[in-house]
Amino acid sequence: MHPPLPENVEAIFQQVRARNAGEDEFHQAVREVLESLAPVLVKYPEFAEQKVIERICEPERQIIFRVPWQDDRGEVHINRGFRVEFNSALGPYKGGLRFHPSVYLGIVKFLGFEQVFKNALTGMPIGGGKGGADFDPKGRSDAEIMRFCQSFMTELHRHLGEHTDVPAGDIGVGGREIGYLFGQYKRLTNRYESGVLTGKGIGWGGSLVRREATGYGAVFFVREMLKVRGDSLGGKTCIVSGSGNVAIYTIEKLQELGAKVIACSDSHGVVVDEQGIDVDLVKQLKEVERRRIADYATLRRGARYLPGGNLWEIPCQVAMPSATQNEINGRDARTLVANGCIAVGEGANMPTTPEGIRVFLEAGIAFGPGKAANAGGVATSALEMQQNASRDSWTFEFTERKLDAIMTDIHASTWATAEEFGSPGNYVVGANITGFIRVAKAMLALGLI
Ligand code: GLU
Repeated sequence: MHPPLPENVEAIFQQVRARNAGEDEFHQAVREVLESLAPVLVKYPEFAEQKVIERICEPERQIIFRVPWQDDRGEVHINRGFRVEFNSALGPYKGGLRFHPSVYLGIVKFLGFEQVFKNALTGMPIGGGKGGADFDPKGRSDAEIMRFCQSFMTELHRHLGEHTDVPAGDIGVGGREIGYLFGQYKRLTNRYESGVLTGKGIGWGGSLVRREATGYGAVFFVREMLKVRGDSLGGKTCIVSGSGNVAIYTIEKLQELGAKVIACSDSHGVVVDEQGIDVDLVKQLKEVERRRIADYATLRRGARYLPGGNLWEIPCQVAMPSATQNEINGRDARTLVANGCIAVGEGANMPTTPEGIRVFLEAGIAFGPGKAANAGGVATSALEMQQNASRDSWTFEFTERKLDAIMTDIHASTWATAEEFGSPGNYVVGANITGFIRVAKAMLALGLI
């Protein structure tokens, strides 16, 4: 199914697979990076001699812990918590927490591995890590969420610190959860250590634009991809998967830049609204009332709900997968291309399968991989850390300009690297190599770590 790996990285992949048995998503993420790295080892033989790839594929530390909690009826539940501290060559471990029933070590490791390169791409001083729990927040009361977060942090806090490991949100972890987590960290440590978590509320250490940053940043990246092709987002028909934090602010920025977003989704179905998605209604339903996207169609005239529908069958020019991993397979990718899609920007982490990526690259469309395209979230987390360190808070406009500059720079550097390494226009190669070289050089400079 996969094309063979280049000879100089095949053995490394086999070893990663053997010693991380059953962790399919992690294998997938590693394989994708290794596919890009063969020419790097030729240019930098010291990386091979010093086994930098092998070292990068092995997390610095993996923490797995019990999270016991009680629901509102008094029933006891036991979940499993994770924090994989993957790489700290460039700065403290940085990356979100995911609360979702699908979470297991393989998911956390794929996310942590991607985070290492993504964070390097931002140019900010942050290493990579990821964590979470196999906890399902759906249908849980505020009080249950709080008790879960407090129990989770009671165990995790000993591993964190503003110079050590700085979590944030991901799927199932937003402003509410970060609040409960921060409150418990503060109680346990007796320190108001703002920089230990990002995604905090405005008014208690949070940064403006952090909430919007992943979505806005992904749209800036797509804008840049279109720009080098002499094109723009103005008037483009777009679809955005998901309806959570990334999707909402992707839709908002696409619309601001003159594009028309006609569909979004959740894990149960698809909403199509040919007049253009009413993003304020999505915000109200999802951020305030925590309801399903199906309700959108009952509240908005002319909108349709397709239960269990396949979003990728809706013709569009720009597609922005912003829900979860492996949501676009090879068939979906072929459908998108056949329907006239010219650009894909990944707001989610690894939303396209390896086969899907091959379809996009072979079709020659602009494909922005998550590592590059969705780096705006974590980049703005680093801006939040900067503000915390200087006890300052910046305006929305100033912070958004910084985010835009970072995304524009990530586009430029991934573009240039792809060209330098003989794959012009291939942002997968550009992102993997740019991120890898930054981390690898720092690791070599720091000795055998
Ligand atoms: N979970 C986000 C990501 O995938 C953000 C991480 C952060 O802000 O630390 O990059």
